[in-house]
Amino acid sequence: MADILVVAELAEGKVKKTTHSAIAFARDAAQGSGGTFSILALGAGVAAAAAQLTGFGAAKVIVADDAGLAGYVCERYAPTVVAAAKAGGFGVVVATASAFGKDLLARVAGQLDAGYAADISQVKAEGGKLAYRRPMFAGNAYGWCSIDTATQVVTVRQSEFSPAEPSGGASPIEAFAVAPPCAGAERIEFVSFEQVKSERPELGEASVIVAGGRALKEKFKDVLDPLADLLGAAVGASRAACDAGYAPSDLQIGQTGKIVAPKLYLAIGISGAIQHLAGMKGSKVIVAINKDADAPIYQVADYGLVADLFQAVPELVTAVKAAKGA
Ligand SMILES: Cc1cc2nc3c(=O)[nH]c(=O)nc-3n(C[C@H](O)[C@H](O)[C@H](O)COP(=O)(O)OP(=O)(O)OC[C@H]3O[C@@H](n4cnc5c(N)ncnc54)[C@H](O)[C@@H]3O)c2cc1C
Repeated sequence: MADILVVAELAEGKVKKTTHSAIAFARDAAQGSGGTFSILALGAGVAAAAAQLTGFGAAKVIVADDAGLAGYVCERYAPTVVAAAKAGGFGVVVATASAFGKDLLARVAGQLDAGYAADISQVKAEGGKLAYRRPMFAGNAYGWCSIDTATQVVTVRQSEFSPAEPSGGASPIEAFAVAPPCAGAERIEFVSFEQVKSERPELGEASVIVAGGRALKEKFKDVLDPLADLLGAAVGASRAACDAGYAPSDLQIGQTGKIVAPKLYLAIGISGAIQHLAGMKGSKVIVAINKDADAPIYQVADYGLVADLFQAVPELVTAVKAAKGA
């Protein structure tokens, strides 16, 4: 039996959607192992977020609310997660594999002397023991692993765990004292968080993504934005497009970018290198537009159009407009 501790990701006092995927994992894992799950909300001014988290069926919502936790700094957050995990005797500590979760839980695992499985896509229980499915070799193979240390630390892929919905009920809230920061934390200061505001859905949460590659060159925005606007889609990019400065780097999808699994993924002028596929091949329907009929993207595409994108995409925009009566 393992009790699970979910580390919630909060921003500006609100619960980020990523947290719901970690809760979905926790529900599955707790059910499989015969344990319960609790949620840890840490930050400054997090009372409202903690209240929001009480509706998911957790045994308790643990709250570490302290001005010293204003703005995420790993060296200040990790000791409190470690202390909460030890105090509650939790067998598994989990967060979603966002930039926050990956950064924080690697350090937490180190401090707990715990085995760590990153980026897991599935969990199952065998005789009460948890096993985790995770990608290897840039997503070209998947393997099941289990962890033998007393405490296990995992991050879960947001794209693989459908966000948990509130299940009613009201979990009790328990205040938890913030632990002293790691040595050296006094030399690190949170200065500010500069968020790019966009009308579009976030890549991790979008049901449609229009992604472009190096082929779009300086026309990246001009060609893709009208299509994305019509489809209510998020815009993504290959690494080559980001590296060349055609698209901002926070749009990068792939092994070293974001992992996405929308209902519809349009790959426009993207060759389909394995590092790109590692980030999007879980998409439900993949449509590729590429002038090279042998491009590897066609090996994963459900629909393909061998064409010049500079001609095909404007024609597609016109056709979608006509179909929508716009
Ligand atoms: C360690 C490592 C990590 C990496 N991580 C990532 C990652 O996270 N994400 C990622 O994307 N890549 C990643 N890469 C890079 C990856 O290997 C590829 O170089 C990159 O994905 C290629 O991007 P691209 O398809 O846009 O460009 P290209 O390979 O240049 O392909 C452009 C495509 O556009 C087509 N094209 C050209 N002109 C037109 C036109 N007019 N109309 C239609 N089609 C056209 C071409 O036929 C071609 O297939 C990584 C590489 C390494 C080594």
